[in-house]
Amino acid sequence: MVKVDRKKCIGCGLCVSVVPEVFELDSEGKSIVKDAKACKDNMKKCKEAAEGCPVNAISIS
Ligand code: SF4
Repeated sequence: MVKVDRKKCIGCGLCVSVVPEVFELDSEGKSIVKDAKACKDNMKKCKEAAEGCPVNAISIS
């Protein structure tokens, strides 16, 4: 399960560029998970996005 903490997200867009299948920026410019299953299918990239997030807003469990 992948989650984004919206309170932490600063909308840098990194996660969206790494795995656009999983994340997208909403109308407020914050990241949302659009397809959690796609994270399972792209686990390596999804972890890369979580590790690369500058504010550690992405958690994978
Ligand atoms: Fe938000 Fe982190 Fe994604 Fe940047 S990488 S848009 S801060 S969740």
